[in-house]
Amino acid sequence: MIRSVCVFCGSNAGNDPRFAEAAREFGALLATEGIALVYGGGHVGLMGIVADAVLANGGKAVGVIPRALWDREVGHRGLTELHIVETMHERKAMMASLADAFVALPGGLGTLEEIFEVWTWAQLGIHAKQLGFLDVDGFYGPLLEFLDRGVEAGFIRAQYRAMAIVDVDSAALLKRLIRR
Ligand code: AMP
Repeated sequence: MIRSVCVFCGSNAGNDPRFAEAAREFGALLATEGIALVYGGGHVGLMGIVADAVLANGGKAVGVIPRALWDREVGHRGLTELHIVETMHERKAMMASLADAFVALPGGLGTLEEIFEVWTWAQLGIHAKQLGFLDVDGFYGPLLEFLDRGVEAGFIRAQYRAMAIVDVDSAALLKRLIRR
């Protein structure tokens, strides 16, 4: 039973309007499905767009933000729940424990670091939660191809590579995350 999904995504909105559109759609979908959003608590970029879409559709948005990032990421003041923590590590640990599944929308280094961390934790058996990528406009294609190369080269086990659910469509991705 999935009651909350942690979304990792850009603190920028990217330069293609399809990224923002997808973030809005994913947030709205979480709200209508009655699934709470857990995320980094910022108001900037795709992060803010997802949270605003959740709230605009009557959903629950839970933010976890380090005190030192409150200004830089323009902490979101309208959230259902806000946790202010001291460090990045605390942030990630709290987001991971509050969420029942993880999704990466397009984003930068922070987004990649966060989704890879929960992926490696799944590999180590630290949690058994589902994780996925919303592959907006083929954004994640080259990264996933690289991971296939890691499998071919003998560095990544195929079963761990297969843990990530990838879909171009928000509703399809969420359905697959819930079903697994
Ligand atoms: P980015 O994808 O680089 O725009 O970053 C997205 C989010 O990830 C932002 O909220 C960053 O503060 C956050 N972030 C970046 N690096 C880390 C990290 N090492 N641990 C936790 N969050 C991070």
